[in-house]
Amino acid sequence: MTDTIKQALAVAKGEILQSDSPRLDAELLLAHSLSVERSYLYAYPDRVLSSDVSKRFDELVRRRAQSEPIAYLLGEKSFWNLTLKVSPAVLIPRPETELLVETALGLGVCAASRQVADLGTGSGAIALAVGKSRPRWRITGTDISPDALEIARQNRETLGLGNVAFKEGSWCDVLPSGTMDIIIANPPYIAPDDPHLTLGELRYEPVMALRADSDGYRDLQCIAAHAREKLASGGWLLLEHGYAQQEILQALLRDFGYSDVEGKKDLAGVPRMVQARWPGPVSD
Ligand code: GLN
Repeated sequence: MTDTIKQALAVAKGEILQSDSPRLDAELLLAHSLSVERSYLYAYPDRVLSSDVSKRFDELVRRRAQSEPIAYLLGEKSFWNLTLKVSPAVLIPRPETELLVETALGLGVCAASRQVADLGTGSGAIALAVGKSRPRWRITGTDISPDALEIARQNRETLGLGNVAFKEGSWCDVLPSGTMDIIIANPPYIAPDDPHLTLGELRYEPVMALRADSDGYRDLQCIAAHAREKLASGGWLLLEHGYAQQEILQALLRDFGYSDVEGKKDLAGVPRMVQARWPGPVSD
């Protein structure tokens, strides 16, 4: 088989039928197979592919045609101003999750030093984005999955961020009491009976990062309860949630004694996160 770049792309585009962007996907996968930038494909459309490259590319196209996410096929994903390594051990960072980063950075504008935690850090996306933007803050990312932490640590090494540490443990268990200025989490919040879990690209992502019992609220609730013991007085909790969960989550946080409870929408206009302040233990 002696396809040129142009021919290979045309064929692949017709095979990646389920994607919203088959041409772009094909270009990304071919550039990856050739270890070149995407612009190279436009500069040398008539270059003939070696059989090794063709084989690699065909295999990636075949997997993409089965809905395997492009980020897993490339092994990386952009988030905030970072390029992060990803694998099927971690959730693929979503653009809407940047709202948590932006909000966290906005909460501490005047503070030189902050203690911040990112619970269920996965690839380390939130922890590393905050750590990169605020070199004097100290960030701890936690995760129960050693495989996820391995990816997060590789990302930290690549980025050279000495102010970010990762610890193995469930949600806030491994954090010291009463110390955190900001606790951030993008926990699983999809209800177990949601059909999306078994369709399309979500099938390839770690179910432990997506699915939560109690109609999707179990982990949000667990974090809201336990974060109270870990937050400093006046510290903030920032939780990402599903598009229809904002009202209930806000009520739950108020019931738990949080103040300044406020919901926010993402850039697509979808209710996406709640921020809440822990006033500190109630004195008699
Ligand atoms: N926002 C993701 C999705 O709907 C879910 C991420 C999560 O459960 N934290 O695909």
